[in-house]
Amino acid sequence: MTRPLKRHVELEQLFGADFLPLSKSRKALRAAPAPAPAPAPATAKKAASTFPHPWEKEWPAEFQSFRTETLDCRKCGLCSTRTQVVFGTGPASTPLMFVGEAPGEDEDRKGEPFVGRAGQLLTSTLKKFGIERSQVFIANILKCRPPGNRTPAPDEMAACMPWLQRQIATIRPKLICGLGNIAVQTLLVTKTGITKLRGRVTQAQGLPFFPTFHPAYILRNMNDLPLFEQDIQSALKTAGLLP
Ligand code: URA
Repeated sequence: MTRPLKRHVELEQLFGADFLPLSKSRKALRAAPAPAPAPAPATAKKAASTFPHPWEKEWPAEFQSFRTETLDCRKCGLCSTRTQVVFGTGPASTPLMFVGEAPGEDEDRKGEPFVGRAGQLLTSTLKKFGIERSQVFIANILKCRPPGNRTPAPDEMAACMPWLQRQIATIRPKLICGLGNIAVQTLLVTKTGITKLRGRVTQAQGLPFFPTFHPAYILRNMNDLPLFEQDIQSALKTAGLLP
């Protein structure tokens, strides 16, 4: 079996048959009318979060209280539809930080970023290079799920950015890896697409920044999996996690 084919089979085992590319494009999914915001759950809020998460026990006190501060955030309308704030996971001291778009349904339920199918692809790709997700910090542009996973609105991103900027300023990773168009375009303040930007180190938030595809895009475009893997490997090397 060729290496790409072997990886494809591994991923099919990981995700099951429904992992094959979806017929609807993300754009089409986004264009679908967002379901009416669910009424704020009365008692379910935060119930799904195991606190403290193992990595949080290692966080310095200021970082823990910073997280606590975010949990009651009411800076945008998403506070009324979220189950919980998805602060981010990983060590407060790490050379590599991933930034995605926004929590999805699984993340909103679990309180952890990138735990759904896209997250599993990110985790398995890190593992392929011998890196555990607990070695890196993982966050998003938005800390709360947009209803129906719609694209984050500009005012939501503007309201949430200070939290991310504070995380970046505290962690000061050697490299930030932006996952997908929304994260990359927001952090680079550009409209240029990810296909043009990916795979090269640039600067964002005063730190080295490395754009790559969003793993959810890869799940729908398996032909680009080798590029994604190449990018993750480059990011790990640039951050000094791989020789
Ligand atoms: N997609 C994202 O951009 N972030 C997550 O946490 C999960 C899916």
